[in-house]
Amino acid sequence: MEKEFIKKIEKELKQKKAKIEKELLEFAQKNAHNKNNYQTKFPNIGDEAEENAKEIDEFSTNLGLKEILEKDLRDIKDALKRIKNGTYGKCKYCGKEISKERLLARPVSSACIECKRKLQRQGL
Ligand SMILES: [Zn+2]
Repeated sequence: MEKEFIKKIEKELKQKKAKIEKELLEFAQKNAHNKNNYQTKFPNIGDEAEENAKEIDEFSTNLGLKEILEKDLRDIKDALKRIKNGTYGKCKYCGKEISKERLLARPVSSACIECKRKLQRQGL
């Protein structure tokens, strides 16, 4: 895989990572003991019953969103790690190069399309 291509992907991943981290901090805070973990803050809207209900509603929405963003963040960090140690772009199952088209569409891919399809057929 060409350096230029990987550089481009790395830049994209870093931008995405910064964006997600910013988004997470809008409603969650970093876990002091585990920096890969965020804790959703409980919103404080008011003390009325209706406001409390709204708080719970917002909290559970944020919890779901947090799960999604955290997973994205983990994928991005893993991809950046692979770039660092030079294994980026190689399928973790068969070791073949992942196509550029696939990496452009989904830069965090760690498996080639053939292996991915095989796994999906097996229901994994
Ligand atoms: Zn493969």
